[in-house]
Formats: sequence, structure tokens, C-alpha cells
Amino acid sequence: MAGCIFCMIANGEIPSKIVYENDLVVAFDDLHPQAPVHTLVVPKAHYQDIADGVPAETMAAIFAAACEVARIKGINESGFRIISNKGADAGQTVPHFHVHVLGGRKMDEGLV
Ligand code: AMP
Ligand code: ZN
Repeated sequence: MAGCIFCMIANGEIPSKIVYENDLVVAFDDLHPQAPVHTLVVPKAHYQDIADGVPAETMAAIFAAACEVARIKGINESGFRIISNKGADAGQTVPHFHVHVLGGRKMDEGLV
């Protein structure tokens, strides 16, 4: 979608630290990491958020890629957290569906 920052990252118009990529998704490091590992996984096609009719194949690819990111980053054994913000109350700031893969340190048991 024109003007969408994650679409521009996905098609290479904006540089990013790409961690993993396949036909459906791309994973790149978050610009403002909130953990030693903080990588975003996004579909290459534009969906506003997790509830925007994302096809099952793409949804599966997102979560498979998140696990691949964890293996690449070396946090599969120690553990990691996946978060997807949807809408204002969740604090979504970029309206292109993405999941955050967070790890590399012990996180609080509470989620919020
Ligand atoms: P959310 O608040 O869930 O919508 O997450 C958006 C995330 O995108 C934030 O963690 C930002 O730090 C991150 N972000 C914004 N712009 C960029 C960018 N150009 N490259 C990498 N991450 C970005
Ligand atoms: Zn987009």
C-alpha cells in the first residue's frame, strides 16, 4: 500500500536489517529494540492488522518465520515471546500486520 512503511521495507524501498525472508513474509530487526532480540515478522502483502482477513497460508508463514527467526537469533532454546498489537488500545503504531519476536533475556511473567 502506498505510503506504508512496512510495505516499503518489504519491497526494499526502505533499508532494514533483514533476518529472514521467503515468498510470503519478511523478518527484520526492530528500529527501537525492547529486548536483546527484537525482530518483526510481516507479510509482504498489506493487511492492516491481525484481524484484516489475513489468509491462513500467510498466517502460518508468519508464525513459522517467527520460529525460524528464533533459531537464527539463537533464542529457540532459551525461549521467546511473540506479540501482535491490533488497534489503539493495544498500542499499534504501524498499520501493517506484524508480530514482534522478543527474547534474549528473562522477561516478566506478567504480559502487560
Ligand atoms: P507496533 O507498535 O506494534 O505497531 O510496532 C511497530 C514497531 O515498528 C515498533 O516497535 C517500532 O519500533 C517499529 N518500527 C517503526 N519503524 C521501523 C523501521 N523503519 N524499521 C524497523 N522497525 C520499525
Ligand atoms: Zn503495508
